[in-house]
Amino acid sequence: MNKPKVFETPQFVTRPFLPPREEFCDALEEIWTNRWLTNEGPLLRRFEERLQHRLDTQNLALFSNGTLALQIGLQGLGISGEVITTPFTFVATTHALYWNKIRPVFCDIDPVTCNIDPDKVEELITPWTTAILAVHVYGNPCDQDRLASICSRRGIFLLYDAAHAFGVRVKGEPISNFGDMSMFSFHATKLFHSFEGGLLAFKDSGLKSNLNYLKNFGFKNETEVTMPGSNAKLSEIHALMGLLMLDYVDTLIAKRKALAEVYRERLADTPGVLFIPEMKDVQHNYCYMPVRIQADLFGRDREDVYAELKTFNIHARRYFYPLVCDYPCYRSLRVSDPLAVARKVSKEILTLPIHQDLSTDDVHHICDALEWIQKQGRSRSAAPQSR
Ligand SMILES: *Cc1c(COP(=O)(O)O)cnc(C)c1O
Repeated sequence: MNKPKVFETPQFVTRPFLPPREEFCDALEEIWTNRWLTNEGPLLRRFEERLQHRLDTQNLALFSNGTLALQIGLQGLGISGEVITTPFTFVATTHALYWNKIRPVFCDIDPVTCNIDPDKVEELITPWTTAILAVHVYGNPCDQDRLASICSRRGIFLLYDAAHAFGVRVKGEPISNFGDMSMFSFHATKLFHSFEGGLLAFKDSGLKSNLNYLKNFGFKNETEVTMPGSNAKLSEIHALMGLLMLDYVDTLIAKRKALAEVYRERLADTPGVLFIPEMKDVQHNYCYMPVRIQADLFGRDREDVYAELKTFNIHARRYFYPLVCDYPCYRSLRVSDPLAVARKVSKEILTLPIHQDLSTDDVHHICDALEWIQKQGRSRSAAPQSR
């Protein structure tokens, strides 16, 4: 095999999609006419309604970003004490607990799905536990049935960081209806974005007014402040981008699905490249393309592959490495579970480029590079491995 060519432009894991500029500019007219820029303006209300339809979920609240949505959601549910969560996630999941003075209790993950392991949750429950905060990592649904049954049996809340899971369905059921509450992120790098933005979907319709107060300084009306709220409102211009994006998101998912199929076909027989299997009865959104590099089979470890891909101008990401519990700000937390699976996966994981501007040829080329790196590793493996 000849050495594959180096990409002329850097290949990143994602590239934000934007609707045609004229479409956005034309739509701005409405904001200029309304002179209503934020605070539940007409575009925000329309965005929320369209999301109710798109996600098939009644109770929604928009926020300036996913992190504040989660932070305020936890506050709105009155969650305190200890919350069982996963260390295999983006730091914001844990930060949202921290800002509510909640102690994160890290639980290990399932070796196949990389989501929190329902088998290991229950032994971490203490009299102080008030909730489980699980993450649908890469948009792959957690074991909702098992988690929900544990939570209802133990009388604790079930929350999801669904930042990756926009539009995912399980047996036709929208993922936004799972648990007591789910947070979605509309950050620029996510599959569905509004530049910045966040959404809470929640079961109890009675929460809506408190969530609205909390994101607007606690104001109930002109003179009444009912609670020490924050400022976490989305603006009309963000809502406008979100509204336009809604018309494109299905096309974006279809495009990614096709690319994901090419990756899976091409790398099916590459030793040491492990995929997270597609799940039965799940309508995926293909927002990330994670693979696990199993050093013993691949012949080289993930760090090598990550560095070597850069020489081809392919900038894979290590989502999620290090584990959240290993960041200096959380290292002092007592962790009772050895988190063996999470540690292993975190050392193997690599997410590859997948987005609307990538062609099938680009994906073949990325696969060529990975295969070439693998073959190089094997030809070297006559010498004992240093790692
Ligand atoms: C992006 C992300 C967040 C944070 O969302 P923001 O909208 O950027 O605040 C939280 N959790 C996970 C898993 C994410 O990927």
